[in-house]
Amino acid sequence: MRTLAVVGGGAIGLAVAWRAAETGWSVTLLDPAVASGASWVAGGMLAPLSEGWPGEDRVLEFGAASLARWPDFAARVTAATGVSVFVADETMTVALDAADAADLRTVADWVGGRGHELHLLDRAAVREKEPNLARTVRAALLASAEPAIDNRKLVAALRQAAEAAGVVVRAESVDSLTELPHDQIVLAAGAASATLWPELPVRPVKGEILRLRHRPGVAPAPRRVIRARVHGRAVYLVPRADGIVVGATQYEAGFDTAVTVAGVRDLIADAEAVFPGIGEYELAEASAGSRPGSPDNLPLIGRLTDRIVAATGHGRNGMLTVPLTVDAVLGLLGGAVLSEAEAADPQRFSTTVGGIR
Ligand SMILES: Cc1cc2nc3c(=O)[nH]c(=O)nc-3n(C[C@H](O)[C@H](O)[C@H](O)COP(=O)(O)OP(=O)(O)OC[C@H]3O[C@@H](n4cnc5c(N)ncnc54)[C@H](O)[C@@H]3O)c2cc1C
Repeated sequence: MRTLAVVGGGAIGLAVAWRAAETGWSVTLLDPAVASGASWVAGGMLAPLSEGWPGEDRVLEFGAASLARWPDFAARVTAATGVSVFVADETMTVALDAADAADLRTVADWVGGRGHELHLLDRAAVREKEPNLARTVRAALLASAEPAIDNRKLVAALRQAAEAAGVVVRAESVDSLTELPHDQIVLAAGAASATLWPELPVRPVKGEILRLRHRPGVAPAPRRVIRARVHGRAVYLVPRADGIVVGATQYEAGFDTAVTVAGVRDLIADAEAVFPGIGEYELAEASAGSRPGSPDNLPLIGRLTDRIVAATGHGRNGMLTVPLTVDAVLGLLGGAVLSEAEAADPQRFSTTVGGIR
């Protein structure tokens, strides 16, 4: 049996390890702290259409190709573990002023023009769907094909499925990829990937996020993902069985994962501008993580050598892009390149960074 080492046990590494084991590889996953990185911290939106913007064609198409795989992937997770990961069926981006409303029309026209379905809603239609949003919400863009998942349930289920499929999980940090004895190696160390392969242009992008718990008598959480821009900052609310996840700040701070007062203050203020009821929720958790950022917001999935495959750089969309990443990596391990993932080939940076290999 051929041996595979997966370095990094976030959502990407766990999912690759699981599916590779199911297809006949003898898999060892190495991570000193499985599921402790960005995959644990994240919000769980699967929102490539709502995040579409003119000019970002490749990011839209990569995300949409992964979104299309999510129903099958989630069904596979449920079949293996009994766990259902979805927490919402659709995503609504709301406008608080005329400039926001104009931006929503731009997204609707551009994304709609590429064959994806989005609907503009007026004030009354928004009120009907989400009666507890702020009265200042004047319009919205509804993406009825964009669900959300509970990322913590997902990583726990992926670990369970991986171990059931025979993956050996070792609580070890890897210092050198080339010293691993396995036939093939997948580098899935998230924001830390460039410490193991310095030519990869992956950097940490800090994000702070809150988990709010519902209390008796308080306005229920929105039924769908709510996204908005408040004071120029993006904010989103993702429903959970017991409350709401409010995210997320985004700025460059190296590998710092301290939660700042300013980050918490801005998230609460911005979320309250959209959903006034959150003031009565319990502030259950504030956390921060490092997104594995890439220069063009596409991941880096492809061969680094005959023995090493990169699966990293997923930035702010690493939950969304798990299913496509898994299919692309399984393809590469079998000697094939998946056409929908070609845009993520790390070799696209080979001229600017002096050679990836
Ligand atoms: C605040 C926030 C909100 C987000 N919200 C969303 C969202 O709503 N939707 C979405 O799609 N994405 C979201 N993301 C992005 C998403 O979380 C990431 O893109 C994704 O988790 C990346 O997964 P990963 O497995 O590559 O990395 P990680 O989950 O960070 O896992 C990397 C793993 O590698 C291990 N590792 C590191 N170095 C080594 C080493 N030398 N040896 C062995 N193991 C090592 C670490 O311990 C870690 O467990 C969000 C991220 C943040 C921070």
